[in-house]
Amino acid sequence: MMFLPAELIKKKRRGEALSLDEIHFLISGYTKGEIPDYQMSAWLMAVCFQGMSPQETAHLTLEMKNSGRVFNFSHLERPRIDKHSTGGVGDKTSIILLPLVAACGLCVPMISGRGLGHTGGTLDKLASIPGFRIDLSLEEFEKNLKNYGFSAMGQTKEICPADKKLYALRDVTGTVDSLPLICASIMSKKLAEDLSGLVLDVKFGSGAFMKTLPQARELAQRLKALGELNGVQVSALLTRMDQPLGRFVGNALEIKECVEILKGETCIHGEHDFYADTRELTLLLAAHMLWLGKLATSIEDGLAQARNCLASGSAYEKFLELCRFQGPSDPNKLPLTKQCHTFLATTSGFVETMDCEKIGLAGVLLGAGRKTAEDKINPSAGLEVLVKIGDRVEHKQPVFNIYYADSRKLEDALGELNSAVTFSHSPARTQPLVAEVI
Ligand code: URA
Repeated sequence: MMFLPAELIKKKRRGEALSLDEIHFLISGYTKGEIPDYQMSAWLMAVCFQGMSPQETAHLTLEMKNSGRVFNFSHLERPRIDKHSTGGVGDKTSIILLPLVAACGLCVPMISGRGLGHTGGTLDKLASIPGFRIDLSLEEFEKNLKNYGFSAMGQTKEICPADKKLYALRDVTGTVDSLPLICASIMSKKLAEDLSGLVLDVKFGSGAFMKTLPQARELAQRLKALGELNGVQVSALLTRMDQPLGRFVGNALEIKECVEILKGETCIHGEHDFYADTRELTLLLAAHMLWLGKLATSIEDGLAQARNCLASGSAYEKFLELCRFQGPSDPNKLPLTKQCHTFLATTSGFVETMDCEKIGLAGVLLGAGRKTAEDKINPSAGLEVLVKIGDRVEHKQPVFNIYYADSRKLEDALGELNSAVTFSHSPARTQPLVAEVI
């Protein structure tokens, strides 16, 4: 059926629900290049202001999933379980999880995204390993799953092409943080993977798209309902993103952290192991994946299996295997830079808050993310976070190490970081990383 795109934009702008035919027209027209970016951007902005009903969101998800081919992995014997995060700063758990749960016996067909807004993306991180290939053909992805039980790729012209285009457009038009758009983007990719189960890490806080726990809960419930409507069992962990996860933010820097965790290393400075939050969240997500895949009898059993697998070095071996068959690449030869500026505390006190979105934006400004769809990522750019909420910090004590290539970009990043951390006279109460499991 034919519609006028401008009329559909106006309909959404008035807050009316679009029908299945209207959504089909928009998504298929945009995917084929018949509807231009400027009209789609206007429609996305209208969705950001007006939202979408659960029915519209379900239509949008299926239209996006059906914009390309959908895998059929029913011939594979292992349970097919994936994990997806709604996006955070320093959120690198997928890189460790993929080889970890594959080593425990799950099949993981991971279709991920690039960086979005101020948040990093699994694909950009993997692509920072020289030689690592993320643009696999469908045949290669299917072959990897059959032969190795795991593989990672992005949306392609064949799989979720609508999300590939919309994701890039949302990233640069200020239309990322919309509940229905996030739901449809995540679930279209996940439904195309032909999964039996999915674990979601739904983030909330200053560095997440959902700023509050109730918003994250609503997103988790909507994602879970969409999955279950389509025969995929879903568990959702609601986790705090009020400070960067782990020690590093930025693509190659985050791979360095993952490799060190996979090798069983820690990052102890003062009272903290700065890798503890990344490691513990990864292990918990792994436990839920193993439980959903029926390889663990309980979450505790899954946690014990995941911990043993990490400690034995099998997860690291699997990661090296991934780097070989999706390379050849060597995750120990990363493009890291020594060009570093240390950001110092402007006052003494206890770290009270960290504006994680500003920290993520500083990363984007340094070149770790994109300002326009055409931007090239600088894999070595990023930040090392030297303090955690609740830490006592003295005036002029280092707070961030900033790794940069270009001094103008450093100045821009400093502009964001200047107001990213606040201090108080008494220590802030630290909150658990995982707030709820749904
Ligand atoms: N992750 C996605 O894949 N899409 C979004 O819109 C947000 C996070």
